[in-house]
Amino acid sequence: MEARNLTDTECTLYGTKSCALLNMRTCDECPLKGREADPKIHLDLQKFCDLQPEGTVAQLFESKTCTLCKDEPKGATSCYAVFDMAHEEPKTLAKRRFLSRKATGFMVPLQFACCAKCRRRILIEAYMPLVTTLVLTCVVLPLVMSEKLAQALRATAAWLPIALAIGAMLGGYLIGKLLSWLYRRRNDALMYTDVREHPFVLRMEEKGWRPLFNDRKAHIAFTRKPIARGLGTAPSGVYSLPAVEIEENPENSD
Ligand SMILES: [Zn+2]
Repeated sequence: MEARNLTDTECTLYGTKSCALLNMRTCDECPLKGREADPKIHLDLQKFCDLQPEGTVAQLFESKTCTLCKDEPKGATSCYAVFDMAHEEPKTLAKRRFLSRKATGFMVPLQFACCAKCRRRILIEAYMPLVTTLVLTCVVLPLVMSEKLAQALRATAAWLPIALAIGAMLGGYLIGKLLSWLYRRRNDALMYTDVREHPFVLRMEEKGWRPLFNDRKAHIAFTRKPIARGLGTAPSGVYSLPAVEIEENPENSD
């Protein structure tokens, strides 16, 4: 992991748990640069810690073995499957959008340590319909376009060549969907094919977190290295640091 190079010793966040939680590489890229004087920021960031399930999100990317494998032995971590979750707390963040991509609350990337096998399974399942559609189209299209066959088909019905081409595309897609469903069912015993059913995600949901995109399928992105900056990317040790104490009445203090 890149070393952090924090130079702004004047910053009120400097050396605090809040700074460690934000986990920026340099002070220049910090979203709180210039706004750090607001002491409520510490409360918001402590709230982020309090909303963590036991073990915190850091356990997912700190794991040396795959967190998606169900079977033993679990594969060695070779990449990270990133799944974004959001929380509606704290409401104050509605005004501080720089901490969050949503209009309100926190956003955190869950970075599941993932082995090469699980990554391959997720990608094969995702791309299966596309591949079968392309293959079937590439086989059928030249056939119905070939002069002899096209003529014979048109003799039966003028629309037949086009109907066959469209049918090949649709058929390819449906076959792909079926294959990827069967493939997923086979993999269900080996791994968490849907991260939304992962025990850690369920524990996040108990704390009020929700998937950032509420779609039929979970949005997963793969990275070779864990994301190294921003909320939710700090190492697990940071969460147990003492909370920043803020003055009761900051307006009156100097
Ligand atoms: Zn795995």
